[in-house]
Amino acid sequence: MIIRRKTRTLYVGGVGIGGQCPISVQSMTNTDTKDVQQTVEQILGLEAAGCEIARVAVLDTAAARAIRVIKDQIGIPLIADIHFDYRLAVAAMESGADGIRINPGNLGGEEKIAKVVVCAKRHQVPIRVGVNSGSIEKDLLKKYGYPTPEKSTALIESAMRNVRLLEKHGFNEVKISIKSSDVLTTVNSYQELSKITDYPLHLGVTEAGGLIAGTVKSSVALGLLLSKGIGDTFRISLTRDPVEEVRVAFELLRSLKIRERGPELISCPTCGRTRIDLFGLAEEVEKYVQTMVSPLKVAVMGCVVNGPGEAKQADIGVAGGNGVGIIFKKGKIWQKVNEDDLMRVFMAELKKMEDDGRKKLT
Ligand code: SF4
Repeated sequence: MIIRRKTRTLYVGGVGIGGQCPISVQSMTNTDTKDVQQTVEQILGLEAAGCEIARVAVLDTAAARAIRVIKDQIGIPLIADIHFDYRLAVAAMESGADGIRINPGNLGGEEKIAKVVVCAKRHQVPIRVGVNSGSIEKDLLKKYGYPTPEKSTALIESAMRNVRLLEKHGFNEVKISIKSSDVLTTVNSYQELSKITDYPLHLGVTEAGGLIAGTVKSSVALGLLLSKGIGDTFRISLTRDPVEEVRVAFELLRSLKIRERGPELISCPTCGRTRIDLFGLAEEVEKYVQTMVSPLKVAVMGCVVNGPGEAKQADIGVAGGNGVGIIFKKGKIWQKVNEDDLMRVFMAELKKMEDDGRKKLT
């Protein structure tokens, strides 16, 4: 059983982070925030996939102003990501941002930080202190060296220095991220940080890569941390459609038995026993499963020798035979169908079960 590290609780809009709140899934848009229509469309897609908090890049005043219009059309809290210009942080909060992500150290001095804090207090907006390996202050790099898996002091000290700046101005609605593109450095940094602070932690591996590399790197790093009870919210960063980030995030939570959402697809890798075109069928099923909301377990197995047995817990599954397919439910054979009709019959039954499931959920 995973025992969560004790952290303070803060709220990004209506989503609690830290304490006993569920570990939340975030993502970030890759649209031009000023393009309200595209940004809203992308956030609605993220929402449909289960994303609980969206983040947008705020590069100029027009983007900060767009937040108000975007927020009117979406249902999840919105965080503004800001670098360097404190005025954009203020403008984003005045425009209704539910949270901001900054690196206080690059806002240009204490006077400017104080202005951000005054505004955050007035609007009750939490701040994420987001430090990356690439944004560590020069003096800390000189003193401690570039972060490595063995020594991540520079990263931790940079984050805590920034947190202290906010605390100095009486602000502690804070969560922290210290991201690195290196898996072991990320794990070590968060582990060490979690020993010295009880602020909620936002996990992530920065510049993780494309679908395969990014999923593996993020899952290893975040999986290790979450399994030790470290982490209160996270984003899987992928060079892909952000909806994929959310899907990977929920698979990660499911695999650690932390949270479950929607259906689960079990499929075998196939082997010499497979006698039908399983890849085609698996692809079709996988596509449909991504649109499902019912918490069904769906199995696609290559053979009847091991298939139904291996996927006993599946609500519905299919196993390939010699020119036929066996459709099974809860590990028991339900129908034997010719290969030519298999896709049609299986998909029709799966859709029926999904429709029934949706009705129960509403
Ligand atoms: S379910 Fe059958 S086809 Fe699939 S890997 Fe197992 S033995 Fe091979």
